[in-house]
Amino acid sequence: MPKYTFKCEDVGMNCGFEIVNSGSQDELLEMLKVHAKQSHGLTSIPSDMINKIKQNIKTSGHYSFSCASVGMNCGFEIVNSASEDELLSELAIHAKMSHNMTSIPQDTLNKIKQNIKET
Ligand SMILES: [Zn+2]
Ligand SMILES: [Zn+2]
Repeated sequence: MPKYTFKCEDVGMNCGFEIVNSGSQDELLEMLKVHAKQSHGLTSIPSDMINKIKQNIKTSGHYSFSCASVGMNCGFEIVNSASEDELLSELAIHAKMSHNMTSIPQDTLNKIKQNIKET
C-alpha cells in the first residue's frame, strides 16, 4: 500500500513540520487539521489551501509492470516507478520503440492497468 508524506515547507510554511508515511490521505489531512490549529492558529483549513496541500502530498507507493503479464514475451519490466502515470508514460515509450505501437489501444491499456502491481 502507498504511504503519504507531506511537509509544511512545500506549501510555503517554514515551521519544519512533516508527516511521513501516513497510511492514507484522509489520515494525513486529519492530522494536518490538528497541526494547522495548534501551530498555525487556523481553526479550519481554507479549501484552496487543502487543494494546495493535496497537490503536495507525496506518495511512496511503487508501481511495477512486466510485458509478460499481458502476453508479450520481450522480457521488458518496469520496477518501482513512483506513480501509475509515470509508469504509463514510460511504457508508452517502450510500446512505441519496441512494439511499434504509436499509441496503446484502449483494451490493451485496460489490460496493462489491471496488471500493474502496486507495492
Ligand atoms: Zn506547519
Ligand atoms: Zn515489451
